[in-house]
Amino acid sequence: MTTICVFCGSSMGNSPGYQQAARATAEFFVQHNIRLVYGGAKVGLMKILADTLLENNCEVIGVMPGLLIEKEVAHHGLTRLIQVESMAERKLKMAEMSDGFIALPGGFGTFDELSEVLIYNQLRVTDKPVGILNTAGYFDKMLEFFDHSVKEGFVRAEHRNNLLVSEDIEELYQLMQKYSPVTIGKWLEDIKVEAGRKSE
Ligand code: AMP
Repeated sequence: MTTICVFCGSSMGNSPGYQQAARATAEFFVQHNIRLVYGGAKVGLMKILADTLLENNCEVIGVMPGLLIEKEVAHHGLTRLIQVESMAERKLKMAEMSDGFIALPGGFGTFDELSEVLIYNQLRVTDKPVGILNTAGYFDKMLEFFDHSVKEGFVRAEHRNNLLVSEDIEELYQLMQKYSPVTIGKWLEDIKVEAGRKSE
C-alpha cells in the first residue's frame, strides 16, 4: 500500500475551494487505497482530510508532539496517533513513514514541512516525490519566488524542478508516480569551491 504524507492548513482558508480540495484529495486516497500520514489535528483542512478518509474506513496516521496533544487539537478518532517529543521529530517521523509528500494550501506550518522535505531530497537524505496541490493558484507566488531564487543563484534549477505541481490531485499523483529525481552529485563540491574562491 502507498503511504502519502499531506501537509495542509490548520485553518480552513477563506474560500470554499480549499475545503473542496482537501475533500477531493481524501476521496482520491480512498479510491486508490492510499494510507494518509499527517499532522494529527482535528482542525482546519487537516480535519476535512482525516474525517473524509475515516468515514470511508481508510487508514489515517497522525504524528503529533505531546505539547500539541495537550492543547487538545489532536484527532482522537484516528487509526493511529503517534506521539513524538518535538516538532523536529514529528517531521522526521512523517518523512520516514511515507512514500511521498503533498502540500495543500496552508500557512507557516505547511511551508516549514514542505521546506523540510525539499531539503531532505536536496541532501539526498530521501529521494521521495514532493508535490504541491496548487488549488486556485494558492502557491503561485511561492513558486515565482522559487524561480527568482534559481535566477539569483541560491537554488539549483534541478532542485527547483524536482518539485511537482498541479492543480489536479489525479495529475499530481501521476507525476509523483513517474518521479525520478534529477540529481546533481557535484553541487556540494561546487559550493565548497565557490566559497574558496570568494574567500581568496
Ligand atoms: P499551518 O499551515 O500553519 O496551518 O500548519 C499546518 C501544518 O503544520 C500541518 O501540516 C501540521 O502538521 C502542522 N501544524 C500546525 N499547527 C498545528 C496544530 N494546531 N495542530 C496540529 N498540527 C499543526
